[in-house]
Amino acid sequence: MADAGAPFRIEGDTGEWEVVVGLEVHAQITATASKLFSGAATAFGAEPNTQVSLVDAAMPGMLPVPNKECIRQAVRTGMALDAKINRWSRFDRKNYFYADLPQGYQISQLYHPLVGEGEVEVLVDDKDDSSAKTIGIERIHVEQDAGKLMHDQHPTMSYVDLNRSGVALMEIVSRPDMRSPAEAGAYLRKLRAVLRYVGSCDGNMEEGSMRADVNVSVRKPGDEFGTRTETKNVNSVRFVMQVIEHEARRQVELIEAGGTIVQETRLFDPDKGVTRSLRSKEDAHDYRYFPDPDLLPLELDDAFLEECRGSLPELPDAKRKRYEAQGITPYNAGVLTAEVETARWFDALLDAGAEAKQAANWVVAELFGALNRRGESIENNPVTPAAAAELLRLVADGTISGTIAKQVFEIMLESGEGAAAIVEERGLKQTSDTGAIDAEIDRILAANADKVEQYKAGKQALFGFFVGQTMKAMQGKANPQVVNERLRAKLG
Ligand code: ADP
Ligand code: MG
Repeated sequence: MADAGAPFRIEGDTGEWEVVVGLEVHAQITATASKLFSGAATAFGAEPNTQVSLVDAAMPGMLPVPNKECIRQAVRTGMALDAKINRWSRFDRKNYFYADLPQGYQISQLYHPLVGEGEVEVLVDDKDDSSAKTIGIERIHVEQDAGKLMHDQHPTMSYVDLNRSGVALMEIVSRPDMRSPAEAGAYLRKLRAVLRYVGSCDGNMEEGSMRADVNVSVRKPGDEFGTRTETKNVNSVRFVMQVIEHEARRQVELIEAGGTIVQETRLFDPDKGVTRSLRSKEDAHDYRYFPDPDLLPLELDDAFLEECRGSLPELPDAKRKRYEAQGITPYNAGVLTAEVETARWFDALLDAGAEAKQAANWVVAELFGALNRRGESIENNPVTPAAAAELLRLVADGTISGTIAKQVFEIMLESGEGAAAIVEERGLKQTSDTGAIDAEIDRILAANADKVEQYKAGKQALFGFFVGQTMKAMQGKANPQVVNERLRAKLG
């Protein structure tokens, strides 16, 4: 982003417009292997209708039994988002008829959600601490997912897969606090990171474990909120940003052409990059919400809440601050904490004795570079944190130069050997032997008499050339500081 400080505006015929965004994120509780009210499995990719209990199929007389782990995970998530945990909450039935919902109602929480107000701090530009913004969370409630309809090539055939029926979702409802596609993107990425640190949801948007309903309205800056539309089930960060961009422009054009926005539900077409009306609020269902008579209210006691809080890991914001306090640059701290796997690996590297700042630079430049080239992820990378710490120690104590360290690391990746062993076997130790270095320098200065002349006549930049030539002649093993000193002495 060019300038994090400049507000996002849409240029219309009548002047500038501001976009207002609120997101309802559905996050599947993947931390548990079973559903919200039944023991059926929830694994992704199973054959249709192989993970359906009698409860999920809504056979008559079946009763829901709350899965305690789901409640625990939602509470931990709420705590991680600095939210108010409601000690007393209740499930409600949201009644509607659809072929993917055998019960005829979804069990959700309307009146008394498990989690109340919270907040998320996001960096709109992750390289710029001054782009921080706080996005409010209105509530988090727990609810069941519905099944999935599949329509065959033949227009007359439809199938239902109830594997998702009854799967536990957390609905995380934001305040209408976002003002640009970039802010919404930053919010979703941060939310996803927090869920993955907590472990309640794997954040896998391709597999549908996280998806967003995108509420968008436009207004002239400073005016009251406008009427919003809601685009349902958007399943990638990029698509959410596209929806906001497209929907904001569409609304501005419509209003400026004399039309009015109606509150409606829309669908996103990722192939065309546009949203389309699905139904307007006038034909919205009356869901006839009422407390589910099959379920008692949830009452959380102190011991349960304490256990939830005590089980939370260090979260991205706290970790980032700790890294910065250890001398790591804000940019590197942001990169290292963005994904929980990276942060875990880096913490293990620090635990193995690596110096924080050196380790951060090495991970962001060298390790990430190597992983990218090799198409590997940090979890299954062949070099352990302890092995990396050994390599970094050899650089820190001057045994090898930074240049040689790159070579050693390549060999470590290929052979799985330890850094010290590689250095020993291949004779890669850095040398401060002035005799050997002087000999090379004398040879190079003699062979480049013209350049020596130019240098002495004031062409300072040539110093780097002499350093480079000497290092090359020494096969990268000369101590660069000694090379610099000796060259200065000889060149006068
Ligand atoms: P509903 O129950 O009809 O979905 P909510 O009040 O729960 O309505 O709001 C749903 C979402 O819409 C929230 O994320 C909220 O932030 C967002 N929202 C509310 N008003 C607006 C608005 N004027 N523009 C954009 N988003 C809005
Ligand atoms: Mg809604």
